[in-house]
Amino acid sequence: MEVKLKSQTIIFVIGGPGSGKGTQCERLAAKYEFQHLGVGNLLRAEAGRPTGQGRQIKDIMLKGALVPSGFVLDLLNDNMLKREEAKGFLIDGFPRELTQAKEFERLVRVGRPPNIVIVFDCSTETMIQRLLLRGQTGQRADDHEASIRQRLETHYSLCEPLIAYYQHKNLLRNPEDAIFTKCCSVIDGLL
Ligand code: AMP
Repeated sequence: MEVKLKSQTIIFVIGGPGSGKGTQCERLAAKYEFQHLGVGNLLRAEAGRPTGQGRQIKDIMLKGALVPSGFVLDLLNDNMLKREEAKGFLIDGFPRELTQAKEFERLVRVGRPPNIVIVFDCSTETMIQRLLLRGQTGQRADDHEASIRQRLETHYSLCEPLIAYYQHKNLLRNPEDAIFTKCCSVIDGLL
């Protein structure tokens, strides 16, 4: 894998399925003129190919499991290199496990983690409701009950080490903290 990336801003956006990563990234990318790369979207395009590999990826995604990290890293790297001129990248749905976080630093942006990692915290109930609702619109084949359960399980079992890893590097940012800080400043104004 050839590494040519310049030192653009790189922001990872992580969170459970249905936590709103994709929607917010689209808005943020438009505002800051960053390139939005939704790893799930990139994988859906691969899953649509009429090849053996395409069918394998489709099956994995329909079950709600994770696509092998080597493939995901290559796909992400290729897409970043194709957009070398971007001033920044908003990467949503990556990393989803610790290996991906470490491999990104080893292979894509050598020795350098992302600039920050934004975490979307969302209650399980809200995530399930949103996914079931989206399922009714038929937008996504993986928004059915069994896959939703599996995606949540995958998320909860893998996200803790990932969050600890970035917390240790002091890169984690939680937008709810920002809202909390704003509320405090409003209340502080009353005192
Ligand atoms: P999303 O669009 O983020 O909800 O992702 C949809 C599906 O794509 C997930 O359930 C996984 O099967 C796959 N996927 C997305 N991101 C990753 C990733 N970083 N690593 C492995 N699989 C992924």
